[in-house]
Amino acid sequence: MGRTTRRVWLWKKRLRTIHSPHGNDVVISTIVPESLLTCPQCGFTKLEIMPTDACQFYYACSNCETVLRPNPGDCCVFCSFGSVKCPSIQVRGSCCG
Ligand SMILES: [Zn+2]
Repeated sequence: MGRTTRRVWLWKKRLRTIHSPHGNDVVISTIVPESLLTCPQCGFTKLEIMPTDACQFYYACSNCETVLRPNPGDCCVFCSFGSVKCPSIQVRGSCCG
């Protein structure tokens, strides 16, 4: 009797593991802190370190000195012109409320 109970319990436990709502989709985050910004004016690219606690709204191209601003709907210049979305997007999927 005791043995059967124990086996059922193990089976349930295994099921719960498999059906975990998080599954394999959860990435306990490997945040990429660097983004390769490409200037839309001159095509100049530069690897920039992104601030992890704030969004960078302005960015001055170090080649042509054009001040870049995010595209409509984007929270920061990295989301618009970078190779990698900003850390807030990477972690939360959204940014700045
Ligand atoms: Zn430029």
